[in-house]
Amino acid sequence: MRALQYREIGAAPEVVEVPTPEPGPGEVLLEVTAAGVCHSDIAVMSWPAEGFPYALPLTLGHEGAGTVAAVGDGVHGLEVGESVAVYGPWGCGRCVKCAAGKENYCQRAAELGINPPGLGAPGAIAEFMIVDDARHLVPLGDLDPVQTVPLTDAGLTPYHAIKGALPKLMPGSTAVVIGTGGLGHVAVQLLRALTTARVIALDVSEEKLALARRVGAHETVLSDAEAAGKVKELTGGIGAQAVFDFVGVAPTVATAGACAAVEADVVIVGIGGGTLPVGFGALPFEVSVKAPYWGSRDELVEVFDLAREGLVDVHVERFSLDEAPEAYERLHAGTIDGRAVIVP
Ligand code: NAD
Ligand code: ZN
Repeated sequence: MRALQYREIGAAPEVVEVPTPEPGPGEVLLEVTAAGVCHSDIAVMSWPAEGFPYALPLTLGHEGAGTVAAVGDGVHGLEVGESVAVYGPWGCGRCVKCAAGKENYCQRAAELGINPPGLGAPGAIAEFMIVDDARHLVPLGDLDPVQTVPLTDAGLTPYHAIKGALPKLMPGSTAVVIGTGGLGHVAVQLLRALTTARVIALDVSEEKLALARRVGAHETVLSDAEAAGKVKELTGGIGAQAVFDFVGVAPTVATAGACAAVEADVVIVGIGGGTLPVGFGALPFEVSVKAPYWGSRDELVEVFDLAREGLVDVHVERFSLDEAPEAYERLHAGTIDGRAVIVP
């Protein structure tokens, strides 16, 4: 089969021929119907050789959907041909976090060497993929795999971030979304679906701000050194009750802190390495700062329910498997509006 692999530190990913995998005991083989392209992969491909956490070559893609092609010994409850999406943050399935569906916070994944597909284990940007356990599959039913696959990360991650901040997003509140790309343009829609908050979107690109307005942002502000001041102006000097940073570099994290109202939640999702000093007087009183990772299994089901209700609609640009390297180039250049999806 063909797969998109990151083969050498610093090199561009390549489409290569690899053996089609066979499901071992307890595993499921999917024929991939769609795979999303996430900015985290670009971060992974920028890491140096020293301390690089995964074995190479690595088949990319941590947003996956497919039809069940075959099941290994002991797998029950799945029909061959069934359309499913992959819950990506795999855990051990047995610790207290996994028991609560929070496999993203599995206590034993590191110790047991369990990695998500595309982030250690072979990923979804291929004709076929192995899923380690049937519990990591969520039925798609009538949902279109191409439209839905980004929700497994670009939907689930902002959903988890926003769900934690819901108590702050009461009527009359304001939410700020920094970076309205793959995750951020879904975050705007989730905020509109789940809250009555006024949504202010920030980005460095006018095209992304136009997309943010199309998907429901009430206001858009160019993300520069004056952006926090503009958010303050738009909120009568008070600031936002929740700020979600989907970039996470030093300047956006500083903006996030400077936008925050007293008792706000500042949620840093982007992995740009920026940090926010916390201490008395560093931020408005009682601001909480969090840096969450992905989301839980039940939250993925909830996100799909929102999609079934028509409350989230990912803006998707399709690429063939052969065009996958170009999708990464375009994402790196900042010219993907919404999410790139590979259709093998
Ligand atoms: P993306 O490239 O689709 O979107 C990023 C957006 O940020 C783009 O619209 C870009 O124009 C904008 N941007 C860049 N610099 C900016 C700035 N200074 N101010 C405002 N906007 C700016 O990326 P994505 O796939 O949506 O990923 C977003 C971030 O979230 C990445 O850092 C990614 O690694 C991270 N991520 C984190 C998790 C997690 O679990 N914490 C999960 C998935 C992705
Ligand atoms: Zn991702």
